[in-house]
Amino acid sequence: MNYPELWVTAAAAAPVVSYFLGRLNRWAGAIAGAALFSFSSFMLAGEISAGAPIIALALWVAAAIAHSVLLNGAAGAAPDRSGLDASMSRAAALQEELSLIKLEATLNATGEKRSLAVYSAVKLLSETVEPQAAAKQLGKYLADYFGTEETALYMAGAAGLEPFAQGHKAEALPGLEKILELTGGFPAAAGEFSGLVVAPVSAGDQPLGLIVLRAAGNVPVEHAARFASEIAFALKRVILFRQVEWLSLTDGLTGLWRRNALDEKVREELRRAAAFKTTVGFMIADIDHFKRLNDTYGHQFGDAVLKRVAQLLKAGVYETDFVGRYGGEEFGIVLPRADSAGVLRKAETMRARIEAETFSQGLEKVKLTISIGIAHFPKDGREPEALIAAADKALYAAKESGRNRVVDAGNL
Ligand code: GH3
Ligand code: MG
Ligand code: MG
Repeated sequence: MNYPELWVTAAAAAPVVSYFLGRLNRWAGAIAGAALFSFSSFMLAGEISAGAPIIALALWVAAAIAHSVLLNGAAGAAPDRSGLDASMSRAAALQEELSLIKLEATLNATGEKRSLAVYSAVKLLSETVEPQAAAKQLGKYLADYFGTEETALYMAGAAGLEPFAQGHKAEALPGLEKILELTGGFPAAAGEFSGLVVAPVSAGDQPLGLIVLRAAGNVPVEHAARFASEIAFALKRVILFRQVEWLSLTDGLTGLWRRNALDEKVREELRRAAAFKTTVGFMIADIDHFKRLNDTYGHQFGDAVLKRVAQLLKAGVYETDFVGRYGGEEFGIVLPRADSAGVLRKAETMRARIEAETFSQGLEKVKLTISIGIAHFPKDGREPEALIAAADKALYAAKESGRNRVVDAGNL
């Protein structure tokens, strides 16, 4: 039995067989294709008599098988790697370019961090009215700039260079004496000295300060020199500010007499009272739990409170009395020719006045109290030091017995 359609189909399919088998082996594919075509043709012989179509089919199949052999040959041949190699080297080049860009970005970020640190340091030094408070923040900028906590800035003061701002690990650095020994005195230029980078801060030939840090390889001496030159002007301002403050008789924040000025008043009034056989009252007032107030509402509010308390204390005494800021939140008051009952009454009035005051910060209403210690010349002390110490002792007793009260040294 014969199926002409089947054999025509098989003949036409021969190139397909040839192609797919040829993918494994091009010649086996060719032979299988040719064999399938020959066999199909053989089976068709005598079944159909269409000579021309069969010849056309034979030509098509032969051409298709030849093409499949060529196709499979091209695929099986060793691939041409030149294109791939080019792509690979291009990729490698791009990779390298990318890592360069990454490195540059890191460097830029470090550079930017440095610029920010130096900018912040200059701004801080240029604006501060309280150098001691600024010092802590400045220590942070130093550490940011140099990328190490082992760093310190010394500032020129009344007695030569003094520690001013430092990173958290500054104590791991040698002491100033040792540093100046290494550098052979105040250095003329920044340099590295036995593992330390030391950079002078100066204006012309006037020494203003010294920057010291542990040399860490990636912190070139130029960076220290740059920081030093950037802050020089602002540091000079701080130094001048401190000198002026030291020289001035009144406290910048409250306008009251400064401690040394008030001590001078005490000496003066005691001399006068001794000569004229009169009396002098002396009080020390201290705000209760002021640290807590600072911690809760911030230093700025603390400063505003100090100002207001200073006003209230001043308003509570005669024009001819002297009110001074003894440091921090402590006030000293000198009352010439005052009798002890009068001083006690005044102190009590001031205490009550401050207790009644409401200090406001935004919506916050804050109350506070003060404790006062009183001493009298000549009964509690004939010398300034003794009088002040007696008032201080009375203040301590006021604190000990519960705060918000007045204690007279005479009653201890
Ligand atoms: P006490 O009732 O025992 O006096 O407690 P206190 O917290 O008032 O006393 P202490 O002496 O421990 O703290 C004084 C605080 O005063 C420390 C500091 O926070 C603050 N202080 C000192 N000087 C200033 C200043 O100039 N401004 C501000 N805002 N706070 C200051
Ligand atoms: Mg206090
Ligand atoms: Mg105090």
